[in-house]
Amino acid sequence: MSRFVQPVPPPVDPYAGDGLLRSWLERHLGPAGHAAAKGRLADLAADVAGPLRAAHADAEAHPPTLVRYDPWGARVDRIDTSAGWQEQRAAAARHAVVALPYLPDARGTWGAAARVVQHALLHLYGPESATFSCPVAMADGAAALLSLPEVDNGVRDVWLPRLISTDPAVAITSGQWMTESQGGSDLGRSSTIGRPAVDGSWRLTGEKWFCSAADAAMAVALARPEGSGRGSRVLAPFLVPRYAVDSPLAHGLAPGAPAPGVTVHRLKDKLGTRALPTAEIGLHDAYAVPLGDPAVPGLVRAMTLVVVTRVHNAAAAAGGMRRGLAYARAYADVRHVAGGALSSSPLHRATLGTLAVDAAGAFALAGHAFALLGRVEVGADPEAAAELRIVAPLAKLATGRLAVSSASEYVESFGGAGYVEDTGVPRLLRDAQVLPIWEGTTNVLSLDVLRALTREDAGAPLLARLAAAVDLARPLSPVLADTLAGAAAQLGDTITSVTADPGSPTVLAGARGLALRLAYALTTALLVEHAAWGDEQAALAARLWARRWLRHEEIAEDAHHHLDLLC
Ligand SMILES: Cc1cc2nc3c(=O)[nH]c(=O)nc-3n(C[C@H](O)[C@H](O)[C@H](O)COP(=O)(O)OP(=O)(O)OC[C@H]3O[C@@H](n4cnc5c(N)ncnc54)[C@H](O)[C@@H]3O)c2cc1C
Repeated sequence: MSRFVQPVPPPVDPYAGDGLLRSWLERHLGPAGHAAAKGRLADLAADVAGPLRAAHADAEAHPPTLVRYDPWGARVDRIDTSAGWQEQRAAAARHAVVALPYLPDARGTWGAAARVVQHALLHLYGPESATFSCPVAMADGAAALLSLPEVDNGVRDVWLPRLISTDPAVAITSGQWMTESQGGSDLGRSSTIGRPAVDGSWRLTGEKWFCSAADAAMAVALARPEGSGRGSRVLAPFLVPRYAVDSPLAHGLAPGAPAPGVTVHRLKDKLGTRALPTAEIGLHDAYAVPLGDPAVPGLVRAMTLVVVTRVHNAAAAAGGMRRGLAYARAYADVRHVAGGALSSSPLHRATLGTLAVDAAGAFALAGHAFALLGRVEVGADPEAAAELRIVAPLAKLATGRLAVSSASEYVESFGGAGYVEDTGVPRLLRDAQVLPIWEGTTNVLSLDVLRALTREDAGAPLLARLAAAVDLARPLSPVLADTLAGAAAQLGDTITSVTADPGSPTVLAGARGLALRLAYALTTALLVEHAAWGDEQAALAARLWARRWLRHEEIAEDAHHHLDLLC
């Protein structure tokens, strides 16, 4: 008897096959701007569907290892990574996934919207990068921090060009050493101490508990300058070189030699992100240079980096959702059940259509966050800065949760095959689960949103956006407009009442619910804006999103009927 072997669909072109991405770029960049980006995006999409898929599989199959000693017993603490990981690293540099928004020609072409183009690159690159998207995020965060005027020119001149190089032989990434075992969310408990050295550099001593991209050439570490007092505000960001580079900061080491004072205790054995080396690191008088004046409370400076990594997290969530959807849809076309293609089952179509609505919402949230970030960086737009203050945590927390629930459905949509390692599908779920944890858990970000609402009046720009979207929605669908208007009115009332008593246990206990409601309403508004520009898919997604997340209605019937338009 011949054995049935399930045909597997070929990889989907993630750029050509993503109508929402293309129309989003058309709107935000204009036809000429989008035309200028097409070559880059098509090149990256071709790599993603080709060699980078193999590199991704290789990096997943060959996790990093820690080599503590050289053959003669010298402590080296070297992290060896796979060829696939190195290929991902080179591709990230070559395709300017970090660099693009910093490149003068990109800023000349797209202005503030260079961040929109970067988001599109991340959307394509991230899902099958074996989570090299994580070092990419941290390198971008470090580059944004190094770009601040408070940072010493000499330090910037050495490190920034490397972080944003598009030459794989020159480009480096960065780690970000914040979390300590006694508190990741509670940075006020950080105990790493910084002490000035005679030559103007500093020495750091302490223990860092979660250091991803531990193979990176540098890290940004948070430390408490000696004598600066307690709490989190005074923590200052320092640059710790991991390996000597050819520069005045090499402090006498041969290029490539490990910097002294940094001990890699061990690599974490993690649920997912297995190709990504995440280490526990000890600092013993480790050489460091301050990023800004350590005497000036530094947490605000470090937040520049954190905002960037949070919006990258949202991009990773949305990108992963879109890729999972594309694969699940393609699989449903070739898998047969009950006498027909799985993709013709009304029930399965409804499942995929509902996922497509979530993927569209997540994409709009992440995309909006990047658009705002660009306007803050190019032109120092104060309105964008005020909105980004609340959009960054909202986008991160809402997309992180959606990514996990969607990934679980994608695994299920492959049936038993989805649970088998070498199909590559289980990784979707494992890797999604980090998204709501790092750079602020859902609860921690909800409290951040509450602080922004009650101390920084961050509700105002959001409510203004919702009000404008109600007007835009009216010609599209009166029901949609009324739904959004109702949600906005309720949110306005809630913000007024929480601001009156921000510390009450009732307000604190409701912070997550409030943050999610804000994010769902904002997402509706963003989809409405895109629909009002003329995108049919966004118009449908806006209606279904609002019914699903604002009215808590079942959308299966519409999702089934309109699956082809939704994805
Ligand atoms: C794969 C991975 C990679 C990582 N990489 C890095 C890295 O490169 N650099 C780095 O610095 N860190 C990294 N982290 C660490 C991550 O940022 C922290 O784990 C995260 O911030 C949570 O901190 P914690 O682990 O101390 O948990 P805790 O802060 O102890 O949180 C435990 C629980 O308490 C809740 N909680 C905490 N505070 C509050 C509060 N005030 N109110 C209500 N609930 C609260 C949280 O929501 C959570 O559910 C990484 C983590 C993972 C999983």
